[in-house]
Amino acid sequence: MSDDFTPQEGSCSCYSNTYTINHTPMARFICHCTICQDYTGKAYNDVTVLLKSDLSELEIDKTRFRSWKMPPNISRGLCKRCHKPSIETAVGGNLVLIPTDNYPDKAALPEPAMHLFYNRRIRDVDDNLPKYEGFVQSQSMVVKELAQGLYKRVTKR
Ligand SMILES: [Zn+2]
Repeated sequence: MSDDFTPQEGSCSCYSNTYTINHTPMARFICHCTICQDYTGKAYNDVTVLLKSDLSELEIDKTRFRSWKMPPNISRGLCKRCHKPSIETAVGGNLVLIPTDNYPDKAALPEPAMHLFYNRRIRDVDDNLPKYEGFVQSQSMVVKELAQGLYKRVTKR
């Protein structure tokens, strides 16, 4: 299950929370939903998805987790010090979401696959990525993307 990803030390913006990322993310997408806007303080969340086992050396004591009521059931961690995103978990902690801002070397990441909740966008994005609107469409595309990502991981063995 190894790939040629060079491990990186991810962190929140003030480095109070750190973790080592040991694997290429399974998926990367850009979410424009209002919760992501709230969470990041930005127009959207450009975020990667990894398996919990892809991370090591987690030092996230200074992360405060909060769950928004709306599905998907994601627990979003903000740094207690810089109040910027630290790490997010989903599916009972088995999936980890890390904003691309938290990687020191973004060039090593896969390109984003799509825009989600594009109807909530603060501004138009001029790129060729698919853009999905609303909860049903966005949710089903995430599930599909993750299923493909997992399939690739499993068949790579
Ligand atoms: Zn911080």
